[in-house]
Amino acid sequence: MKKNKFELLVEQLEQIPTIGKKSALKIAYTLALENKVLALNIAHCIEDAVNNIQKCDICGGISESSICRICGDESRLYSGILCIVGSPKDILVIEDANIFDGFYLVVNERSDIDFKIIIANIKFYNVKEIVFAFSPSLASDAMMLYIEDNLKNENIKFSKIAQGVPTGVGLDNIDRLSLTRALESRIRI
Ligand SMILES: [Zn+2]
Repeated sequence: MKKNKFELLVEQLEQIPTIGKKSALKIAYTLALENKVLALNIAHCIEDAVNNIQKCDICGGISESSICRICGDESRLYSGILCIVGSPKDILVIEDANIFDGFYLVVNERSDIDFKIIIANIKFYNVKEIVFAFSPSLASDAMMLYIEDNLKNENIKFSKIAQGVPTGVGLDNIDRLSLTRALESRIRI
């Protein structure tokens, strides 16, 4: 039997990470029946975001142009710190907490990393320290060593955010105070 429009909506909502069947049903009911204005606003925002949001060419963060607001912010040139994160979402989390005024770099997979470009950016942004803001895991430890090894001739200090960030928990699940402490009491590595 052909699915009706409500079922199709539920099916699509269920594709969103963290949304299960129950939530999808609830959201679909709200959007389709209870709050049609909200539904159309969300539809518009999604379309607008999909058409206009891209990854920044320099840091890999979320941007509305080829270079993001953060990478283009000259006032950050004085910080001398580059914060390396595992996901563009982590930049939003750290920015939202207002605890860091340097530049960022998103690294996901080893194969993605172009050290020539990173070294050029390190020089351009006058980076003296790299702080890794990964959630602890074996993979992130390996990634830190790999990056450190490839940048060992660049005369840079390396540090990582302090323990207190639980293993396997994403930065977006840490409260602001813990994240502030983790960054302030970063450990030299
Ligand atoms: Zn950027």
